[in-house]
Order: sequence, then structure tokens, then C-alpha cells
Amino acid sequence: MSITPTGKKVAVAGLTFETNSFSPDLTHLDTFQRFAMVEGVDLFTAGLGKDEIAGAMEVAAQMGIELIPTTTADGGCGPTVSDVAYAFLKERFVTGLAKVISQVDGVYLRLHGAMTTESCEDVEGDLIAAVREMTTPDFPIAVSCDLHAHFTAKMAQGTNLIAGYQTCPHIDFFNTGKRAMRLLGLAVTSQAKPKLSFRKLKMISPAEGIDTTIWPLKEVKARIHEIEKLPGVLDATIFCTQPWLDVSELGWSALVVTDENSESSPDLGQQYADEIANSLWNYRDKFLFTKVDIADAVKTINASTPDQRPFIFADGSDSTSGGSTGDSSFILAALISNPIHGQVLMSITDEPAAIACAEAGVGATVTLNLGGTRATKFFKPLQVTGKVIKITNGSYQSKYPSKIFNVGTTALLNIGEIEIVITSNPAFMLDYQLYDHMGLDVTKAKAVQAKSAGGYRAYYEPIAFACIDVNAPGPSDNRLSELPFTRPKRPLWPLDLNIPDRNYQY
Ligand SMILES: [Zn+2]
Repeated sequence: MSITPTGKKVAVAGLTFETNSFSPDLTHLDTFQRFAMVEGVDLFTAGLGKDEIAGAMEVAAQMGIELIPTTTADGGCGPTVSDVAYAFLKERFVTGLAKVISQVDGVYLRLHGAMTTESCEDVEGDLIAAVREMTTPDFPIAVSCDLHAHFTAKMAQGTNLIAGYQTCPHIDFFNTGKRAMRLLGLAVTSQAKPKLSFRKLKMISPAEGIDTTIWPLKEVKARIHEIEKLPGVLDATIFCTQPWLDVSELGWSALVVTDENSESSPDLGQQYADEIANSLWNYRDKFLFTKVDIADAVKTINASTPDQRPFIFADGSDSTSGGSTGDSSFILAALISNPIHGQVLMSITDEPAAIACAEAGVGATVTLNLGGTRATKFFKPLQVTGKVIKITNGSYQSKYPSKIFNVGTTALLNIGEIEIVITSNPAFMLDYQLYDHMGLDVTKAKAVQAKSAGGYRAYYEPIAFACIDVNAPGPSDNRLSELPFTRPKRPLWPLDLNIPDRNYQY
């Protein structure tokens, strides 16, 4: 089937980062430079055909819309971004768009939704406003965000065209780009007049409690898909903000985009947004999450038969994809004094230790301190002795997310039955490509550590005998009341448990 070009053009830009306010220090520009800063046509291929931009490309091609690339930057996740770094990134973002804005009919922005800086709690609202300043009030701007976005009223003031991931663990990057571009395509070709309705709730939950593959979020997701198919509705999203953000208006949201031209009632979108938000609120205590102490996890694993493997034990409190630093040695210390019987695979961030192993060389026996180099309020160094098995430059292809990672000099150290991968920079452990890169077979190990707060399940569950989420301290702790929140407006559930029903919405 040949597509008739509409003659419409859309500029593409992006800036993605997920802040963890409790992770120490600041994120500087070098993190973005190491992670991904892309310009021009390269941004169409940076996600290896699987990210939101690839999805947007597919729909733009189907709708006969030409995409004009500008700039994207991705810093992954980590501590609050410095104002200096954000000033540079925003200038680059605005300059890239300003060069083409007079030639295009719309803009598509790939954002995360939970980026904060030293002085800005709402980077995404700020970026959308910056684009709006260059354009007219009705110029179409479409945005795609992560399900863990901290959605704000300022974002909604800037645009009606917002689509977020509908899955957690996230497996719909591509489809979310498709949905955002469809909204934008309908707007730029005047086939629809999108209107955004939303309801924001005074609630958060531990990341591990946010899982759309199990009840009750699975049920909510199914209802969202039903609503999307109803006459007059164009799209629906829930934003279950990641909980480690110390910002004033923290909370979950439900969004519905309707077509003003075909709405049966002007309140249709608000009715559905309220319905979804109310079901989230009513299920709130189901999103709490209890973990297992490491001693109990070891007992369970050691009571299993040899063919019952691998057990995945997750350290969500040091989730490198939740903005934590990856330098916790808490569980390693516990496993050295109370070992699991069989091969155990672990990872840790520690640049000095990785370099010390590289300098000692493969085959050397080294004694060094491991961990506690970054989040020193949470983690302590642990002295270990082990044998250096392998050294790499830390460059490998991740599958989740689909991109090339470079975590710097990386060492594999053998400590008894524990094989620990020591990276210089935090490595995402949502998949097991780092272990694979170091020549370790996760399916043959007795137990494998994933420093992830729930997100690991998409890749690990299919190969796991069982998954166990383990209690530990850290900046991405599920015990939210233990974290030093100072800014959220109160009440906020579950920091406050007795909230009158009339007071649960912003
Ligand atoms: Zn997310």
C-alpha cells in the first residue's frame, strides 16, 4: 500500500532522565555525555529500532508525515541534575528546535517525566513551556513519558497530547511512541481536536508494588484499554510516579485524551479520568510491598534441590535503574558470612576496585574494599579477597532498554562461590546482558542478584526458578517512610495513612 504524503512535517527532540532525590551528590553533564547525546538523523537509530522514536517513525510513515530530527539526550537515572548541566541541555534542546520550528507543523518530544534539577522540580513542564514559547497556543506538541513520570498540571497547561507507557515492567516503549505520534498526526492533519483531562491523586507506592502484569494494576490496565476503544476517546494513560522524588506535588495521575470534535459529552474525558483515578485510590493498599530478609532468602534457596535454579534475588533499594548508585555491599556481606550453596552472580559499582583489579591483572589474587564509594550515607565498604577472572572496557549491548551501555572498566572477581561483576559506573540490571558480557551464564547459576526494584521481572522471570525481593537499605528503599522526604504536600499516602476520602485528590 502506498502512502500519500500529507506535506506535514514534525520535529523530533528528546531529553530523558529519572531523578532519585535521595541518591547523593548531583548528576553532571558527563553522565549524559557517557549515556547518550544524539543529533540529527542518528536519533532515529539510537534506540536500535525499539524505542519510542522508532514507534513514532512507524506511525509518521503510515500517516504520510515527514519527521525532522533535532537533538536528544538521555542520562539514564541518578541523583538530582545540576542546574549548570540542565542549562546546557535545555539550551541545546531549544536551539535544535528553534532552527526548524518555522518549517514544521508539530513537535514530538520524547521525555521521561521525572527529571528534576537543583532549582526545578518539573523539567518536563519547563521544556514543554519552552517549546510553547516558540509557537502559537494551538500548535501541536506531543509528548511521550515513562509510566513512572511525575505528571504535573504545568505539563497539561503546555499540551493536550501526552501518552505514557501502559506497562510495568516497561515493554511498550515502541507502542508509546506510536500512540504519541498518532495523537500528533491526528492534530496536525486536523482529523481530531485532542483534549486532555486528568485527575491527580495524593498517593505514591513502592516501585515493586507497581506491576501491570498482576492484579489490581492488570485490571486497571484492561479498563484503560476498554476506555481507549470508546467513541470520542483517543488515548488513556496512568502515571504511577516513581516514589523517590522529593517534590511538592508528588502523586499518581490518570489521563484521558478525547476528541472534542466527536465527544458525546464535554465531560467525557474527565469522567473516565476520574473513574480510573478512583479505582487506583481504592486499590491503594494493594500497591504496598513487603520484602524478605536476606537470611530467610538464603534459607529458602539452600533448601531447594540442585535443579531448582536460578533464584533471582533483587536488591531494589540499590536499583541502578531507579537512580541508586549500585555500590551497596549489604547483601554481599550477608552472603559471605551466610553463604548460598552453589554459584552466585552479583554486581556492584566501584570504580577504584575495578581499576585495582585491572591493574593487578587476570589471575591475580587481590584484597580490596568493595562498595560504599558513592552513597556513603547508606552503604559501607566491605573488605574482600578474591581472584581476578576477567577485565573488559564495560561496553555492551543492553536489551532492556535497547541501547549500547558503557559502564567503564569492568572486572569479574571470584570470591568463593560468588562471582561479582565490578563496574566503574552504575550498570542497569533490568536484564542480564552485563553478566552475559562477562561470560557468566545466568541460567546455570544457583542464584543471581538483580539491583532492580521490580523492573527486572520482565527479563528475569522467564528464566527464573523463583524471584525474591530482599530487604536492604538504600536510596530506592521500598520502605518509603524511612526516606527523608521534605517537600511533598501532606497528606500523601502511604506517608499518611488516614486521609479522608474528600481530600485524596490534588
Ligand atoms: Zn519507569
